[in-house]
Amino acid sequence: MRLIPMDARGLVVARHRRHVTVENDAGERHQCALLRRQLKPLVGDEVDWRRQADGKGVVTGVAPRHTVLTRIDGRGRREDVAANLTQLLVVAAPVPSPDWTLLDRYLVAAELIPVKAVIVFNKLDLVNAEPEPLQDLHKIGYRVCRTSAMLGSGLGHVATVMARERGAVVGQSGTGKSSLINALLGEQLQAVGRLTEKGRHGRHTTSAATLYRLGNGGELIDSPGVRNYAPYIESAAEIERGFREFHPHLGNCRFDDCRHLAEPDCAVKAELASGGISPRRYESYEKLYDLVATLHARPSNKGG
Ligand code: GDP
Ligand code: ZN
Repeated sequence: MRLIPMDARGLVVARHRRHVTVENDAGERHQCALLRRQLKPLVGDEVDWRRQADGKGVVTGVAPRHTVLTRIDGRGRREDVAANLTQLLVVAAPVPSPDWTLLDRYLVAAELIPVKAVIVFNKLDLVNAEPEPLQDLHKIGYRVCRTSAMLGSGLGHVATVMARERGAVVGQSGTGKSSLINALLGEQLQAVGRLTEKGRHGRHTTSAATLYRLGNGGELIDSPGVRNYAPYIESAAEIERGFREFHPHLGNCRFDDCRHLAEPDCAVKAELASGGISPRRYESYEKLYDLVATLHARPSNKGG
C-alpha cells in the first residue's frame, strides 16, 4: 500500500501574488505556491500544505474563516484582504482634521465583521483638549487609546490592548498609522521584512500583506492595502447594526423595514429627538446609508 503524504497545517503570515509564506506552530516558515486558482488564502488564514516531489510547497486547502476584513476596490467591488482578525485599531488625529464619518465607517465595518474596534487618538503632542466626537464615542462604549508616535507615549497601552488579539491598523491617511506600526514593531519589523521579501524591496515598497507577532501573543496584520482601505459594506440595510447605540431601539419602529430616515414612528429618530443618540452619529448614519445605497444602485455593481 502506498503511503499518502499527510498535509501540514500552518498560518499564512505573508501573501504575495503567486505564493504565500506559511508558518507552523514551531515558527518554521515555508514558501508555498498557489496552484489551484479557486484557493485564495489571505494573511491570517489557516491552510493545509504539502511538499511536492521537487521539494516545493503547495497550498492544498484553506480552513473556514471566522472573520474576513474586506475593502472596496477601484471599481467599488468587495475585495477580501485579511482573515481571522479579532480587532480593528482605528487611528484618528487632530491633524489632518478628522473625517468623523470615515471613522464611523470603520467602526461600522468592525461591528459588522464582527471584530472589536479600538480608537487610537494619535499626535496627542499637538492637542490639550479631546474633540467632542471622540468623547461621544467613548460614551457609547468604544475604547480609546491616546498616543503620540512621535514622543513614543501611549504605545504600551496599545500593545496591552492588542495582547492575544489579531489586529489591523486602519484609518484616514496622515494620522500616523505607519509611524505607530513602526514604533510598535520596532526592530523586529526589519528582520521579518528581510525574511519575507528577501531584500528585494524595502518594506514600504511592497504591497504584500504581512502578519507580525508582537511578543505578547498579539498579532498585527499590515499592508498598505489594509492600512488605507475603505471598508466594503454589503448593503444599506445592514448599516443600522453597525451603529451600536441603535441596537436597543431596532425592532421598535412602526415598520419592520424602517430605514430610520423619514419613516413615521421611528424608534431611532425618537431616541435622536430625546438626546439619546448623538446628532453627529445620526448624520453619519444618513451619509453612509446614502453612500452604500448609491453604490449598489450602480449597474456595474449588480451581482458583483
Ligand atoms: P499614515 O498616513 O497614517 O501612515 O501616517 P504617517 O505615519 O505617514 O504620518 C503622517 C505624518 O504625521 C508624518 O509626517 C509623521 O511624522 C507625523 N506623525 C506621526 N505620528 C505623530 C505624532 O504622534 N505626533 C506628531 N506631531 N506627528 C506625528
Ligand atoms: Zn426606524
